[in-house]
Amino acid sequence: MENTKQMRSWLDDMNLDHPLVIAGPCSAETEEQVMGIANSLKDTDVNYYRAGIWKPRTRPGNFEGVGALGLKWLQKVKKETGMKTATEVANRAHVELALEHDIDLLWIGARSTVSPFIVQEIADALEGTDKVVLIKNPVNPDLSLWLGAVERLHTANVKKLGVIHRGFSTYEKSKYRNIPEWQLAIDLQTRFPDLPVINDPSHITGKRDMIFDVSQTALDLNFDGLMIETHHDPDNAWSDAAQQVTPDRLKQIMRDLRIRKESSPETEYNTKLSNLRAQIDVLDNQIIETMGKRMKISDGIGGLKKERNVAVLQSTRWNEILGAMILEGETKGLSEEFILKLFKAIHQESINHQEKVING
Ligand code: PEP
Ligand code: MN
Repeated sequence: MENTKQMRSWLDDMNLDHPLVIAGPCSAETEEQVMGIANSLKDTDVNYYRAGIWKPRTRPGNFEGVGALGLKWLQKVKKETGMKTATEVANRAHVELALEHDIDLLWIGARSTVSPFIVQEIADALEGTDKVVLIKNPVNPDLSLWLGAVERLHTANVKKLGVIHRGFSTYEKSKYRNIPEWQLAIDLQTRFPDLPVINDPSHITGKRDMIFDVSQTALDLNFDGLMIETHHDPDNAWSDAAQQVTPDRLKQIMRDLRIRKESSPETEYNTKLSNLRAQIDVLDNQIIETMGKRMKISDGIGGLKKERNVAVLQSTRWNEILGAMILEGETKGLSEEFILKLFKAIHQESINHQEKVING
């Protein structure tokens, strides 16, 4: 992609002294709900008011959005509060209706980004638009697929672009609704530093009490903004009830987030340092996660050994592992001494786990 600098001009031109904020309900439900939330967000840091009009639901039979009627409510929001408006589009008809109603920012949802046919259809419908278009990551952690979608819009001469990081689906249970895989967003920033990246902690966490921490990590990783689902009565929301916050909570979150934007040499140092630290925190969490998984497997082995009445310690197998890991460590610049210490500790924990299974 060429000329990526101009992709972020829409954001730079806003001259914000805080991260970009997109907030509003997961779904537009009624005119009163849309207007009520909007009025509570007026005169805050919120730059764009979001509301889903067409909702992609995992299973049929759930609330699928109010449809085009909701676009009129968003127009009213803009007129009465001055906030710009944002909604998701998933096909040509959506794009045409959203443009007709002068919606300022359109985003492509995670379930659409996976399909090159859909993305191309949307890109063709948007050809040359001056609206801002943000592309959510595909549900699967595939950086090329995500960038491919950006490229389709860029080729369709859509100039105001950006991406939304909303996390990735996994079959495995996790504390997240969609695991962040921060490394993928970091790689994306490294490859296209000009492409604005917005974090969506709502769909990453699925739980309102985790939103602050994920938002802070995103800011520490130099994200350009946040999209946070906000509802005046979250528990009774027609979609994504568990993850929406109230307008008051949103304001509190915005007050509490540590934001570093000024650029004295001192703050540049601090920004770089906190960025690197955030990357380390991400990796440390992965180490713990991996260790937890490893010990679960050890428990399984303990169970098997118990059935067969086999001894916990199998020294041949252990020496093989150690030898292989020392060689592997060498290729990553890790000393033999370190690998020995690390794996001795892992081995001991594994033995403790197995003994618990066998004797417990
Ligand atoms: C949404 O933003 O409400 C939404 C449906 O998001 P996603 O495409 O990330 O699931
Ligand atoms: Mn939602």
